[in-house]
Amino acid sequence: MTHTLSTESVIYDFNKTHAQVKSVKTGETIEISTYDCFENQIQSEDTEITGIDWNRVNPATGPIYVEGAMPGDVLKVKIEKLEIGNQGVMVVGPELGVMGHRLKEMESKVIPIQDGKAIFNHIEIPLNPMIGVIGVAPEGEGVSCGTPGAHGGNMDNKMITEGATLYFPVAVEGALFGLGDFHAAMGDGEVSVSGIEVPGKATVTLEVLKEERVVQPMLENNEVVTQIASSQTLEEAVKIATELMIDRIVEKTGMSVSEVTMLMSAVGQVEICQVVDPLMTVRFVVPKWLEEKFGVRLIG
Ligand code: CA
Ligand code: ZN
Repeated sequence: MTHTLSTESVIYDFNKTHAQVKSVKTGETIEISTYDCFENQIQSEDTEITGIDWNRVNPATGPIYVEGAMPGDVLKVKIEKLEIGNQGVMVVGPELGVMGHRLKEMESKVIPIQDGKAIFNHIEIPLNPMIGVIGVAPEGEGVSCGTPGAHGGNMDNKMITEGATLYFPVAVEGALFGLGDFHAAMGDGEVSVSGIEVPGKATVTLEVLKEERVVQPMLENNEVVTQIASSQTLEEAVKIATELMIDRIVEKTGMSVSEVTMLMSAVGQVEICQVVDPLMTVRFVVPKWLEEKFGVRLIG
């Protein structure tokens, strides 16, 4: 059966103290509706941006309790389908994003989504619908949905899209999964601090893996296996993602650290997810054909 969850149940932080709003069994599928990151408060460019309630940004729909998920397990999340609304919005403003020091006031732009394109003035932009916020409750204090981390959260990683599978470290019983903050299009970096923010609907299959371990979220699709990492600086995030991936390959293949480091220097890609949230997020990307050469899967 496919469960459904509406936007009636949103959280503003991933937090073990939030009561579940839905319970699913491992392997079940759920269709989750989401607001945009402003909780749909900006419907036209006449909306006074100073009038919006900033306590209601980055809502994630959830939390969903996954039966059998225990601390130390991995929650596997397959994104079966990703649908977006027909109108997006972007913002810029002082102190926001890479260009915030040059901007004098908050501005917003409403962007219609028509025939598979986002209409920016008269420029048709190709869509790359993706999920900005997706994750599970962390072990300790709650983490705002605006911040990424080992639990997932606001990773703003454009690879989080239809067909991708994510792997999260479960920190609390039931995992307490949630998602929100969809973008119709976003470039690596998310330099303005917003993608083309849209409401939408994601259909995901949630599965508990007892035999896997991950430290920060991982993502795979048909072409690549990736290690995501968020940290205070880009440099530190790069180090964490690279080292976690190399350790994983060493463990799965029995090759030495030096051999795997050379191999990753030849075929691995360090890529930026975002540089504008409270922590920076990167991904270390390994082509999937390597799994065939190794004769072993790296995750899943
Ligand atoms: Ca975001
Ligand atoms: Zn967003």
